[in-house]
Amino acid sequence: MKKNFLVLAAALTCAVSLAACGGSKKEEAAAGGTLKLVTNAEFPPYEYHDSAVTGPAGNDIVGIDIEIGAAVAEKMGKTLEIEDIAFDSIIPELQSGKADIGLAGMTVTEDRKQNVDFSETYATAVQSIIVTKDSDIAGPDDLAGKKIGVQQGTTGDIFASDDFGDENVERYPKGVDAVQALVQGKIDAVIIDHEPAKVFAGDNDSLVLLDTAYAEEEYAIAVKKGNTELLDQVNAALKELKDSGKLDEIVAKYITAE
Ligand code: GLN
Repeated sequence: MKKNFLVLAAALTCAVSLAACGGSKKEEAAAGGTLKLVTNAEFPPYEYHDSAVTGPAGNDIVGIDIEIGAAVAEKMGKTLEIEDIAFDSIIPELQSGKADIGLAGMTVTEDRKQNVDFSETYATAVQSIIVTKDSDIAGPDDLAGKKIGVQQGTTGDIFASDDFGDENVERYPKGVDAVQALVQGKIDAVIIDHEPAKVFAGDNDSLVLLDTAYAEEEYAIAVKKGNTELLDQVNAALKELKDSGKLDEIVAKYITAE
């Protein structure tokens, strides 16, 4: 009786929490080693800290990219490990071989392709402009001469610097810091990926998101340049996730259709 109860309890725990049934899977996976994922967990809903939950790597980091990373690791028979670092340290960390995959809502760009290899893309994204409700900025053209806040090293940073001049761009370690500076009136606008923009501006009545998309981009998983074995495995796993509908399921869990 007691034994049955334990089996049932284990099954129940397994049903309510994926992390809790990681036990046996973890042991299995341990044989295959670890897959080290680097990210910058300041980018909801792709990667962020949620102290209320245990994420797939056993810490509080969750989000779309994290679930994709967990699924890739599982398909490779490896245990997922996550390191949360500055966004612009992700590529150097992959180059030095300290980490295996970079999953961070990272946009594929020609410049980055010089330094890392990218998987097939798994999401399309746009840059959005956040302004205060009383702002006279109605679109990208109105940004000339304004102070624009961005997250350091992101495509928002690169485009804003190219189009409006370095001197007009204020760089912050986290996107949310840029949004905070906007609320405090220190800058005139923030350029950041649309999904985190919705999260950051969503809970602030004084902010609006401009409809005009600033740039269209694609997210992919980054690996060390030349590591075709890993890249092939990542692409195979991604394809399975796409074909089975699991990728759509993961996205739908975090992003409600507009
Ligand atoms: N998509 C943007 C980029 O690749 C921002 C990514 C991020 O801040 N995590 O630069």
